[in-house]
Amino acid sequence: MLPTDTALVLFSGGQDSTTCLAWALANYARVETIGFDYGQRHAVELTVRPALLEQLRAQSADWNGRLGEDHMIDLSLISRISQTAMTHDIAIETQANGLPNTFVPGRNLLFMTVAATVAYRRGLTVLVGGMCETDFSGYPDCRDDTMKALQVALNLGMDTRIKLETPLMWRDKRQTWELARQLGGAALVDLIRSDTHTCYLGERGELHDWGYGCGTCPACALRARGYRQFVGAET
Ligand code: ZN
Repeated sequence: MLPTDTALVLFSGGQDSTTCLAWALANYARVETIGFDYGQRHAVELTVRPALLEQLRAQSADWNGRLGEDHMIDLSLISRISQTAMTHDIAIETQANGLPNTFVPGRNLLFMTVAATVAYRRGLTVLVGGMCETDFSGYPDCRDDTMKALQVALNLGMDTRIKLETPLMWRDKRQTWELARQLGGAALVDLIRSDTHTCYLGERGELHDWGYGCGTCPACALRARGYRQFVGAET
């Protein structure tokens, strides 16, 4: 990557995308962010975004100088055209095809395509997403091959040379916490622990050692386990 490159980060307000944003701020000359309101049950993650952006600006003058515009996009059509536990009040369970019903078909494909459209308009050359094949819930649109194929399709379809970067693709949750510590030290780890949101159910009542959340949904379970491995409390 070149320090002159400019990036658009898919920033939801969760642990992964906040770590990705810090990674982009360390690597690119100008960084903008994009968030999607798609009727998610955990819409609280959208309300934590502005505070996170302010805190990241406060942690580093360098980051503050690189961090540009934030784009919030209404993609509520997703909840109108699909029926999943991510967007509707139904119990989280495994479907007949082996995928959890929190999987929103086409979501990441749509997110990246919309992000590419915004990047085209803004003259940004890199898209950064927190997709991860190591510690995912089996979502096929988080796969490295999906992202590589999408990069080819987007560039063919728009006659561009946009790069899709996924710095977490081969990291598990413990390694994602370690990356945050490398990028921003204890201050960034603390910010991610207490100010990001991961819980599928939108629970923010109690601050656990690993952050806020119900503690039992799949997203909370992954986050809690990774944090405990990171601090050495669990192997
Ligand atoms: Zn939860």
